[in-house]
Amino acid sequence: MSRYNPTEIEKKWQARWERDRLHEAKDFDPKPKWYFLTMYPYPSGDLHIGHWYAMAPSDAGARYRRMQGHNVMLPIGFDAFGLPAENAAIQHGIHPYKWTMDNINRMRTQLRSMGAMWDWSREVITCDPEYYRWNQWFFLRMYERGLAYRKLAPVDWCPKDNTTLAREQVVGEERVCERCGTPVIKKNLEQWFLKITAYAEELLDFSGIAWPARVRALQENWIGKSVGVEFAMEVTGHPGVSFRVFTTRPDTVYGMTFAVLAPEHPLVDQLVTEDRRREVEAYKFKAARESDIERLSTEKERDGVFTGASAVNPLSGEPVPIYIADYVLLTYGTGAIMGVPAHDERDFEFAKKYQLPILVVIAPLGLDGKPLHEAYLGEGTMANSGPFDGLPSREGWERIADAIAARGIGERKVNYRLHDWLISRQRYWGPPIPIIYCTHCGIVPLRDDDLPLVLPLDAEFRPTGESPLKYHQSFRRTTCPNCGREAERETDTMDTFIDSSWYQYRYVSPHEKNQAFDAGRGTYWLPVDQYTGGVEHAVMHLLYTRFWTKVMRDLGMVPFGEPMLWLFNQGVILGEDGEKMSKSRGNVVNPDDFVHSVGADAVRGYLMFIGPWDGGGPWNSRGIEGITRLLQRVWNLINETTETRKRGNGETRDASRGTREMAHWTHKTIKKVTEDLEGFHFNTAIASLMEYVNFLNGAREEQAGSAPWREGMRSLVLMLAPMMPHIAEELWEQMGETYSVHLQRWPSYKEDLARADVVTLVLQVDGKVRDRVQVEAGLSESAARTLALANEKVKKFMDGRQVAEVIVVPGRLVNVVTK
Ligand SMILES: [Zn+2]
Ligand SMILES: [Zn+2]
Repeated sequence: MSRYNPTEIEKKWQARWERDRLHEAKDFDPKPKWYFLTMYPYPSGDLHIGHWYAMAPSDAGARYRRMQGHNVMLPIGFDAFGLPAENAAIQHGIHPYKWTMDNINRMRTQLRSMGAMWDWSREVITCDPEYYRWNQWFFLRMYERGLAYRKLAPVDWCPKDNTTLAREQVVGEERVCERCGTPVIKKNLEQWFLKITAYAEELLDFSGIAWPARVRALQENWIGKSVGVEFAMEVTGHPGVSFRVFTTRPDTVYGMTFAVLAPEHPLVDQLVTEDRRREVEAYKFKAARESDIERLSTEKERDGVFTGASAVNPLSGEPVPIYIADYVLLTYGTGAIMGVPAHDERDFEFAKKYQLPILVVIAPLGLDGKPLHEAYLGEGTMANSGPFDGLPSREGWERIADAIAARGIGERKVNYRLHDWLISRQRYWGPPIPIIYCTHCGIVPLRDDDLPLVLPLDAEFRPTGESPLKYHQSFRRTTCPNCGREAERETDTMDTFIDSSWYQYRYVSPHEKNQAFDAGRGTYWLPVDQYTGGVEHAVMHLLYTRFWTKVMRDLGMVPFGEPMLWLFNQGVILGEDGEKMSKSRGNVVNPDDFVHSVGADAVRGYLMFIGPWDGGGPWNSRGIEGITRLLQRVWNLINETTETRKRGNGETRDASRGTREMAHWTHKTIKKVTEDLEGFHFNTAIASLMEYVNFLNGAREEQAGSAPWREGMRSLVLMLAPMMPHIAEELWEQMGETYSVHLQRWPSYKEDLARADVVTLVLQVDGKVRDRVQVEAGLSESAARTLALANEKVKKFMDGRQVAEVIVVPGRLVNVVTK
């Protein structure tokens, strides 16, 4: 019998598949198409086990789909722009282009060792001008439609060095400049935005796509739709000066005891009284150094500063003090809120801290006038609310909204937390923005004929705190396409999330010269049927690509508005210590080591067996032995029976007693594995295969050579094929079947054979019948024994005596004999 040598057979079949172009997806094939996409890797330079965890199961999913009769496309490419390349370049003095391409070369070799069915002929590399010229083309289309615009937006700024800082140049909790240690502040720069907010409402609609509830919830929360009322408040002592507040709870307006402006609110400088100015300035400076995330953190204590000014509650006419506080953001709503401590948690906390009055205006049932220990957020009856007293708060909401509108001081409004997408990066390694600034014509977009606007490779990319392209004279200086006068190019580059917003379309025709992708091929392949990747992309990439697709639909490029129909998020693979893998912890698993020692099939199988794919979990170097053992047992099983057949000993026999059981095991396993693979439940599919192999080993003596046995062997190899493709191909060949196992149809099952026959098992204690239980026919002796000893009635009648013997008559009875 031949030995199972994974290294040898894996190399052999990888080469053969590549030579035969087995995995090239065929455009316009009459079979139903299935576009299977896994988030493409960043060329970090080393393929780690996390890549394997994301990619090997998705390959199994794609292979399963192909065996189900689909024409499957599983493309791959590289997300090649971005900051790590620029940082490595700065650190090691290697050009980002060279660093990136070297890494891609290395990763291609590593990726091939996985044996996945990627169609390499469709490879896309986003730092290639052939690719990013279409980023620029899309940008121009958005500019024409007002979806790309320029406005002032804050960046991190070092006041000493007088430069912008990249996020990682701002260090420590103190947020100081990496170079000189000066506290970093925010500064406004003219930057480019894409108007994703124009699609906010539509992005909340997930109909027609099957995405995980968690991703939908994260996106909904990120978009943050709120329905409320916006109204103006006049400032006391400043005739004609007012600010607008937005609230989702107009029913609580009478409970307002203060107002809060964002520290950056343009009115602050005008309102602040002289005695408060110094304190207000200090607070503004502190707030400017915090990120929005820090400012909105629920763990942070709410604080603020009184401006000395007050405003008037337009409904009650009561004056309220005006504070500034960093929990109010200028970018959300109007940058100002009404403080209603009785009915808002943050306001309650704030009022407690600054001893501001807390006035209950929505009375919950049974409230007896005692002070609140926390804000009451629910509905109730209106109180302390003038003419609205006694109304149910839900009705009060509408009545007060009407009253505000009737007085002409405000109106109902829908607000979104979602901001427009800031795409300008003061960095080198990204696609240039195709815009020219002319002193006579203003902002002038490039013409399509002038694309691609190529990123010059000879730029000085070392950090100066400004866009490196600013110092590249021949790039920066140009002539205006409008008037022919001297002009300057935009020197910021685009956010790399633009690359990944539409890469799935490029795979359709990666070398297409005249359009982003070939429309005819697009009609065949699009949209993506199944997408897989990490949930950490929920509110960036996965939202951006939905936005991009809606824009493409509105440009008439695609007839649909959602890029991917199904989405699956795999979990995270952890180190053996159960912690996140990291070099500093020393718990990083190198997949290459295991591929060399036990083979890619075993690594693939183990990753799928570790637990549910969406659950992740710790790697266990010894756990992989379970898979190695399975593969070895399958190998032996098939080799031994094949040899028996070759010697002519295993002639077809008549249907014997065990034949139906044999067929039952085969069909129930096919049914289980089919259902599991439909839902990416690889771990339970492999567990079923293990049980099946156990059964086959026991049944071999009796069954080898029978027709159900041969069906069983074929089915076993076919079921292994998506998950462990190399060993399956090798065994398929040894069985004398037609190449390739991966082009075969997935085995089908008969429901009646898959269904277990049920028999009644009599349970006795010392020969007396104590219970009858229904069990699956073919239950093994040891399982029957375990079942009997665990039976409550058996235990009761054993009355604490020791077991002397257990007699099993398979399918009929178990007699427990006591001492
Ligand atoms: Zn500095
Ligand atoms: Zn001009």
